[in-house]
Amino acid sequence: MTAPHILIAGAGIGGLTAALALARRGIAVTLAEKRTGFGELGAGLQISPNAGHVLDGLDLRLPLKRHAVLAERLVVRSWRSGAALVAMPMSAEGESFRLFKRNDLHMALLDAARAMPNIRIIVGRGVSEVTVAADGIAATLLGESGAVETIEALAIIGADGLWSRLRQLAGDRSPPRFTGYEAWRALAPAPERAGGEVTLHLGPDRHMVHYPVAGGRETNIVIVRRAAEAREGWSRSGDYARLAPELETANPALRSLATRACAWQVWSLFDRVPAPMAQGRIALLGDAAHPVLPFLAQGAALAIEDAAVLARLLAEHLAREGAAGVPPALAAYASARAERVARVQQTSRANGRAYHMAAPWSLGRDLVMKRLGPDGMRRRHGWVYDWRDGG
Ligand SMILES: Cc1cc2nc3c(=O)[nH]c(=O)nc-3n(C[C@H](O)[C@H](O)[C@H](O)COP(=O)(O)OP(=O)(O)OC[C@H]3O[C@@H](n4cnc5c(N)ncnc54)[C@H](O)[C@@H]3O)c2cc1C
Repeated sequence: MTAPHILIAGAGIGGLTAALALARRGIAVTLAEKRTGFGELGAGLQISPNAGHVLDGLDLRLPLKRHAVLAERLVVRSWRSGAALVAMPMSAEGESFRLFKRNDLHMALLDAARAMPNIRIIVGRGVSEVTVAADGIAATLLGESGAVETIEALAIIGADGLWSRLRQLAGDRSPPRFTGYEAWRALAPAPERAGGEVTLHLGPDRHMVHYPVAGGRETNIVIVRRAAEAREGWSRSGDYARLAPELETANPALRSLATRACAWQVWSLFDRVPAPMAQGRIALLGDAAHPVLPFLAQGAALAIEDAAVLARLLAEHLAREGAAGVPPALAAYASARAERVARVQQTSRANGRAYHMAAPWSLGRDLVMKRLGPDGMRRRHGWVYDWRDGG
């Protein structure tokens, strides 16, 4: 019997992790990526232990080691004064909360995928149409110059991000909703090899996060602020002169860090209700299924979790039922993930509201955080960070 074969649309963090997780279980994968190359995609990514555990299980701990900074604590500060409100421990014993330059993580996943003989990667071709039959799917891949290839597989996984074509093909045509916020992201050279501190500055209608990446040689900066208009797509370059007025009310340390940053990129922040994660032989994963606002730093983490659960269930059902096991595997995946992804999405939204509170509500928020203290803050996030694939 030939090896089962799955098609994945999108070679982002989620699609690559899914390809690796499937291939390592003996399932052949074709990974189709719409973009023509794998350039720089944003600045930093916090990878909490729930996702880090999956990456380690794919033998990526060593390749990632030279890029990662171990996050020791999160310090929450006031935007205006810089005064610390609370600190939360991040990497407790036996678990690692890692900070990456996004591109470093993406490239490590890509290198690992390229080294697998049962993963075929096609770039510059996006999945545009899918025909579903009783025993499999046929997908049309489109390049810039038109239809180029039809791929047949047992199933297709849409890991094609916020503006997912696969989500449309699975029947959800409601567009993402602009939140009225945009994120400005940049990297700055670190003054000296920085330790693993994630700093969060909270102000009315804005906040800033910064943390070391690239082995501590650079600082990743994200500033989220209100925006009148949205722009579709990944990002656009941002003119610092437009951001500077926002920083006039910020504490001096934050202002000085922002002026050291190079090449700002701007992301409009969109929200979307979770889609059903499977329909017959089509599954959705990561932002395609449940984009997460960045206020809990869990979007990529959830995509990585999805990949692990989906690969395990597909392998288990294929082993028991053969090709007929694919739709039940995808249905089991959808029901295994539904509650958690919805809860993470909602918590992220709630964090956004709390982060951006103005006085007097912000005083209550600060009091709650101080009362919780470091251990209480960590316990509050336990259900997010302590997740492990139950299979
Ligand atoms: C400001 C900000 C900060 C963030 N910080 C964090 C963080 O610290 N930690 C964290 O876990 N998450 C974070 N996130 C969220 C994270 O970036 C996303 O959730 C994550 O990138 C989603 O990964 P994905 O693989 O699902 O989708 P994407 O990364 O969007 O990848 C989708 C891929 O599919 C391709 N594609 C699109 N259409 C097609 C098609 N039709 N056919 C084939 N390919 C296609 C795209 O080109 C792309 O390569 C942050 C997000 C923002 C905006």
